Amino acid sequence: MADRPNIVFIMSDDHAAHAMSCYGSRINQTPQIDRIAAGGARLDNCFCANAICAPSRATILTGLHSHLNGVLTLADDIDNRQENVAKLLRHGGYQTAIFGKWHLGHGGIHDPSGFDSWCVLPGQGDYHDPDFYDMGELVSLSGYVTDIITDRSLAWLRGRDRERPFMLMVHHKAPHRPWIPDDKHAAMYEDEDIPQPPTFDDDYRNRAAAAANAKMRIDRDMTHVDLKADPPAGLSAAERKNWNYQRYIKDYLRCVASVDDNIGRLLDYLDEEGLTDDTVVIYTSDQGFFLGDHGWYDKRFMYEESLRMPFVVRYPREIAAGSVVEAMATNVDFAPTFLDYAAIPVPSQMQGRSFRSVTRGDVPGDWQTSIYYRYWMHLTHHGVAAHYGVRTHRHKLIYYYGEALGTTGSIDEPRNPEWELFDLDADPMELHSVYDDPAYQQVVAELKTELTRLREQVGDDR
Ligand code: CA
Repeated sequence: MADRPNIVFIMSDDHAAHAMSCYGSRINQTPQIDRIAAGGARLDNCFCANAICAPSRATILTGLHSHLNGVLTLADDIDNRQENVAKLLRHGGYQTAIFGKWHLGHGGIHDPSGFDSWCVLPGQGDYHDPDFYDMGELVSLSGYVTDIITDRSLAWLRGRDRERPFMLMVHHKAPHRPWIPDDKHAAMYEDEDIPQPPTFDDDYRNRAAAAANAKMRIDRDMTHVDLKADPPAGLSAAERKNWNYQRYIKDYLRCVASVDDNIGRLLDYLDEEGLTDDTVVIYTSDQGFFLGDHGWYDKRFMYEESLRMPFVVRYPREIAAGSVVEAMATNVDFAPTFLDYAAIPVPSQMQGRSFRSVTRGDVPGDWQTSIYYRYWMHLTHHGVAAHYGVRTHRHKLIYYYGEALGTTGSIDEPRNPEWELFDLDADPMELHSVYDDPAYQQVVAELKTELTRLREQVGDDR
C-alpha cells in the first residue's frame, strides 16, 4: 500500500493563501488546514495558469494549459472525451470520486468522467439546501453546502473497497461570492473589526490603465446581494468603504471557518481509520482572491493575491513535517504529480511535471524558475482586460494585449495594449510598474525573451 498511496484532494473556491494561518494570515485562524501544513509541506510559490474557476479546474484535471484543454473562459464547458487524471487513476486501479463544485458544464460530454462516483453542484450551486447532480440525476439536499460535500465524501470513504487505493476530490463551493455563512459561524467576528490590508486605499497610479479600469472595488462595485444589509446613515466615504469591507470579509472568513472545520472531519476520519500514513492529503484553492488588497474583491489579474494558489500537502511516509517549499509549481503540474504518486506513467501530451520530489526537498537541477500565465476573458464581469505574462522568482512581466480574440464569454471591445513590469523584491505589493524605468530595460528584454520561450513551449500562439 505504501508505494501506492491514497490521494485526498481538497479544493475550495477563491480561498486566498493570506486567509490561512499557516500562510501567516493577519485576519483569521485555520487550525485544520494548519494540521496539513504542520504535518507536511507548505508550497510558497504555487501559481495558477489562469486565475478563474472553470479554467483552473480544467487544467487540474487535464494537466494542460487552457488553450489546449478548451476551457479558456467561464463560458467554455469541458469536453470530457479528452484524457484526464481521474480516468488514468481509475484505469490504474484507483477508486475515484468527486463531490462538490464542478463548474465545467453538465450533461453528456460535459459531465465528470473517470469517476466511479460523483455528485456535483449545478453551475455555481447554492450555499443552503443545494441541488446536486448525483451521477447525473438532479437531487435536492437539505443543509449547508460545505457540510453536505464532506458528508458525501465521508460516506463514500466508509463504503469503499479497502483493498484498493483511492483518489477523492472534495471540491468546496465556499468561500465563493456571495459568501453566505452557515448558522454555526454566523456570529464569528461580530464584535471586532478585521484589519484592512496595506493596499486597501490603492490609487492605481504608476501602473497600466487595466488596474484603474477594473470593476471590483469594495467601495463602488459591491451589490446588496454581497453586503446583505443597508449601511447606517451618515457614513463618510472612508467609513462606507470600511463598512463594505467588514461586511464582505467577515462573511468570507465565516465561510472559510466552515471549510476548515470540515477539513478537520476528514483528517479525523483518516486518523481513526489508520489511513494517515498512507494518504496524500492536499488542500488548495482554484486560485487566490483579493481580500481588500488594492481596494478589491475578486481575482483574474496576474497580481500576487489572485495568481497565488495556497497549497499544503501531507504524506508522512516521505514529506518531512513542517517543510516549506520555495520551488515553483503550477496547477498544470497537479495531474502529473498525482500520477507519480500512483506509479502511473504521465501521458506525453500532459504539459506539467510532477513535483513529488520537490515536496521532499529534492529539486531537480532543471526545475522551472518561471511560469506562464494567461487570462483570456476580456473585460467580462469585472472589466479586467485579457492578459498574459511571465513570473520569475524576482520579477513579473504582464502584457495586456487588448483584444477578445473571439473567445467565448469575452467582450469584443479593443483596448490599447499595455505592459507592466514589477520587481517583487523591491515592490512586493505591486504598486509601481518599472516597465518604463531605464534601469530595468535589460530585465524587460530578458523577460520578453523568456515570455516568448514559454509561449512556444506551451504552444500558445494566439
Ligand atoms: Ca474560483
